Amino acid sequence: MPDIRLKAGLFVCALSAICIFLWLISGATVALAIFSVSLLIYLVIHISWLHKLHLWFKNPVLQEIPEGSGAWENVFTALLRYERNNIANQTQLNSALERFNLTANAIPDGLVILSPSNEIEWCTHNAENQLGLDLATDKNLPIVNLVRDSNFIAYLYNGEYEEPFKLKSWRNPEVVFEIRLIPFASKQKLLICRDMTQLEKVDTMRRDFIANVSHELRTPLTVVGGFLETLSDMAGAVPDALKSYFTMMQEQTGRMRRIIEDLLTLSTIESNTENPEDDEIDMENLLKSIQNDAIGLSQSLNQGLKNAKHNIHLDADPTLNLAGAQDELHSAFSNLVSNAIRYTPKGGDIFISWGLKNEQPVFSVRDTGIGIEQKHIDRLTERFYRVDRGRSRETGGTGLGLSIVKHILIRHQAKLEITSELGAGSTFSAIFPKARIVHKKVIMQA
Ligand code: ADP
Repeated sequence: MPDIRLKAGLFVCALSAICIFLWLISGATVALAIFSVSLLIYLVIHISWLHKLHLWFKNPVLQEIPEGSGAWENVFTALLRYERNNIANQTQLNSALERFNLTANAIPDGLVILSPSNEIEWCTHNAENQLGLDLATDKNLPIVNLVRDSNFIAYLYNGEYEEPFKLKSWRNPEVVFEIRLIPFASKQKLLICRDMTQLEKVDTMRRDFIANVSHELRTPLTVVGGFLETLSDMAGAVPDALKSYFTMMQEQTGRMRRIIEDLLTLSTIESNTENPEDDEIDMENLLKSIQNDAIGLSQSLNQGLKNAKHNIHLDADPTLNLAGAQDELHSAFSNLVSNAIRYTPKGGDIFISWGLKNEQPVFSVRDTGIGIEQKHIDRLTERFYRVDRGRSRETGGTGLGLSIVKHILIRHQAKLEITSELGAGSTFSAIFPKARIVHKKVIMQA
């Protein structure tokens, strides 16, 4: 198709040639009049096509694009081509969006996209059902207006999303969801909501089963242990040849009793969904008493030698206290100190410290003991996971200590950090959130 400029140029040249010819035969007036009238008609035709174009833009339907003539044929043909491409792209985009929606809605988990200021931008049908949302009316509303659980709101604003959050359905408290928040793009968040009701039920059954079995085993074991003790104490009741077997039986019943006590402690802590008490714990006193217990343990492992095997150092910030459940935290800290003693050979050092690190309160126990190979570190808090089974048994371990520590710390929103070097020693640190800091009141003496 010829260029628009060529068409216009040809028209003006032809008109000029005709008018020059007319000038020669009919004079300048006729030629100029015809030239002007022709240009005027040319202009009117262009204005009318421009008007048609303007009308079409008001209602841009592909089928109604005018065909045009002259230079305008080029314009409308290009417009038709552009509009066809546009419609093809839009169709492709719509079908991609449709497929994305179908795929997203086929996922059993609910998905919600949140804006940087936590407004709902989009969600799947499952998320609507699970969280009681309706995208048609709730779009662009802050999610905290619709999911009003105070713990969820705290989790959302806290900004620490490594661990998922458990949310009870407000419509049916037996239904439990696991919420995960994944930041993406520029401060937007993807909220994933998974129905955990079945898994929670199985977990509760497991916990109840362990608690019941432990409870049922405790009484017969106490009876057996009691009889063994009575028989051992009765002069002549146990022949000398059998005495060593009796000692072994007593040791083993003692071990079983410790395992059962630890299992019961673990299931009590795990099934406790109430927040722990927020007592002000006098850390200096607590740690001094733990240090004394540790000296006792060290001596008992040393089987009666006068001096304790280990050098136990304490460095506690006297102005810093902790808010939490005293009994639980006492048990967690004692567990870490007792491990340090049990896994540090004679003459080793144990450093117990308490203070602020990066503005967070941290309790840590460092030892110069046997250390742990890197590959075991992530698994240490699993129930009954032991690096050295023999050593754990020898020193009275149950394999449950670090599991108990982990659960107590989770209840206090704290985390356990373990660093270790084989043969050089280990450091176990309990890192608490700033919110648990209590500054001790210093009493001024007159
Ligand atoms: P256990 O009763 O066996 O000590 P824990 O749950 O307390 O059980 O600890 C799990 C395992 O972690 C232990 O069996 C031991 O192998 C390892 N461990 C724990 N603390 C230390 C430590 N301070 N030094 C070396 N190994 C340790």
